[in-house]
Amino acid sequence: MSAIEDLKSMLKTLNMYHTAEKLNDLLIQSTEKSLSYENFLEKIFKCELNSREQKRLETRMKWASFHEYKTLDEFDLSEQQSLSKRQFNQIKELTWLEQGYNLILLGPPGVGKTHLSVGLGIHAVKSGYKVYFTSMNDLIQLLKTQEILSTSRNKVKRISEADLLIIDDLMFMAMEKHEANLFFQLINKLYGQTSIIITSNKGPEDWGELLGDPAITTAILDRIVHKCEVISLCGDSYRVKHRKTIFCTN
Ligand code: ADP
Ligand code: MG
Repeated sequence: MSAIEDLKSMLKTLNMYHTAEKLNDLLIQSTEKSLSYENFLEKIFKCELNSREQKRLETRMKWASFHEYKTLDEFDLSEQQSLSKRQFNQIKELTWLEQGYNLILLGPPGVGKTHLSVGLGIHAVKSGYKVYFTSMNDLIQLLKTQEILSTSRNKVKRISEADLLIIDDLMFMAMEKHEANLFFQLINKLYGQTSIIITSNKGPEDWGELLGDPAITTAILDRIVHKCEVISLCGDSYRVKHRKTIFCTN
């Protein structure tokens, strides 16, 4: 075995697979630039650390289960007058997440609630946080099937380990008491350790309709609203305003 093959094998034994793969390139570059021993070692370790961070990021992104990829950079603030640039930058800083605050994004359909929540979620994943995105419907299905399905159990486990849970579209389908109870149990478990973003077209004062039981509603609201920022988005639907057409517009 050549010296380089020997080195690659040793790197693999040390679980430095990425560096083993890149070793030839790293050696050529370092020779060309006449790097010092110190800089060469730095290059080797940076190569491995960057690759590991990239893998962790990819795993966190996969686990987050975003239904669509919408970033904060793609969010056009001039289209959303109810959120000032200052407020936008403030929520982008993620201090609220660090401090365990929840966000409730309210507004009619098409004003960007899902876009903003996904954008914040992706930004949080890139900043090193564990995020889980789900619709309210899917969440209830997960909670109901966790006893019998290991896939649901694994997802519920990810939710409990997440720093941020995004519940998109708190719909107004009447929930059975058993379902509202499961939802309460989850909120209670996450309370104080996981931030939650909820998007909805109705405010907390109307959530009783969805959750049915007044006692459960109060208990859930109590925990969510305790440390919470409510952001009301308004205006016309972005979809309607920017409707695509198959006809020529001139
Ligand atoms: P909501 O969840 O409030 O119903 P969405 O977030 O799904 O609305 O937005 C509908 C569509 O309009 C999406 O494709 C979204 O990317 C786009 N959109 C909404 N608001 C904005 C905005 N301010 N800037 C860019 N795109 C927007
Ligand atoms: Mg939506």
